[in-house]
Amino acid sequence: MTYENTLDFARGLDARDSLRAFRDRFHLPLGPDGQPGVYACGNSLGLQPKSARAAVEAEFQSWQEHAVEGHFHGTSPWMHYHEFLTAASARLVGARPVEVVVMNNLTTNLHLLLISFYRPTATRYKVLMEGGAFPSDQYALESQVKLHGLRPDDAIVELLPRPGEHTLRTEDIEARIQELGDSLATVILGGVNYYTGQAFDMAAITRAGHAVGAIVGFDLAHAAGNLELQLHDWDVDFACWCSYKYLNSGPGGTSGVFVHERFARRPDLPRLAGWWGHDPADRFQMKKGFRPMEGAAGWQLSNAQIFPMAIHRAALALVDEAGGMAALRRKSEQLTGYLFWLLQELNLPADQLEIITPADPAQRGCQVSLLVRQRGRALFDYLAAQGIVADWREPNVVRLAPVPLYNSFEDVWRIGRAVAEWVNHPV
Ligand SMILES: *Cc1c(COP(=O)(O)O)cnc(C)c1O
Repeated sequence: MTYENTLDFARGLDARDSLRAFRDRFHLPLGPDGQPGVYACGNSLGLQPKSARAAVEAEFQSWQEHAVEGHFHGTSPWMHYHEFLTAASARLVGARPVEVVVMNNLTTNLHLLLISFYRPTATRYKVLMEGGAFPSDQYALESQVKLHGLRPDDAIVELLPRPGEHTLRTEDIEARIQELGDSLATVILGGVNYYTGQAFDMAAITRAGHAVGAIVGFDLAHAAGNLELQLHDWDVDFACWCSYKYLNSGPGGTSGVFVHERFARRPDLPRLAGWWGHDPADRFQMKKGFRPMEGAAGWQLSNAQIFPMAIHRAALALVDEAGGMAALRRKSEQLTGYLFWLLQELNLPADQLEIITPADPAQRGCQVSLLVRQRGRALFDYLAAQGIVADWREPNVVRLAPVPLYNSFEDVWRIGRAVAEWVNHPV
């Protein structure tokens, strides 16, 4: 597509956007002038779907009317609540229903999965991750490694970009995996790196990991609801994601888990168990002896968190209504492509502003990360004063994420204009 830097052009794209009506299905926060601002922070916390409140109200009503019987009565009996999220979650990540479950929070799930899928032996004990991964993932890995009596600086291998580069090359990741060979137990990468916005080639990384006999998993916090995922076909072993970023399911929202079908009937796999992962046929007989359910559901610990799950269910319904990830991704590539183009048009020297997100659309999602070496914080504050909600990462990165469900091409044009103003009239 050829882009133009005019408001009319952006509005023309909006007029032809088949998803434009979805913006109205969300509560947009107001800018400093009392008008709806430009929300470019969906990578951190997605906006509230207008349908979320009624979804929660319905469960309050059920609790009020039925009390304990709400587990069996009401429109969505709580006993089976996690099942109401299965089909939509499977579509979202390209999985079979048996491969997904919604439960807990992201870091909790990462730990539960690592207990099963990081099983170091005396010789195969290394775990490969991104250098500078999201801190929670670093801490999770560090503590898992210690749990096995190993030293993090020995067991954890970090991938770093080549000197002078900001992102990882797939061939370098593959080479590192080969080099680690028999010593590599588990690969755990973000599907999209939270800082640079780089989307990894998950199929190629999984192939490379499997070729040396390693297990391969992904933290999809920034990928779920952002990229088109085919976890089953890519043969990924395990994955988890949160629901409050691109999936608009509210602060601290629940999390999704994927475990490949080949592990669905493996009760022998070590895991931390709880009653909700036990075979429902005799869950309530309260007997000794854990027998896991088939598939990802067998990793559940506790009975379903109805309120966050009700929000998540309403939010996932919007993704389906919009035509699923294929439709969202089509618009997303255009939106992010437009933002990228507008920023490149500024032709700024790299020591002033550098885009560290890959230029190749296949290697990025909604997010564009700007490395602003001087006065980065001033750019962030300037955007905020213009009603543009961006996201600031120490020490000098501004992240912008136009998301296809509720951002418009006009939003993107406004971001481009504000950055240009900041360049020409530094505050
Ligand atoms: C957002 C994010 C988290 C947050 O974890 P919670 O357990 O939901 O607080 C963890 N890891 C990554 C990669 C993230 O992007």
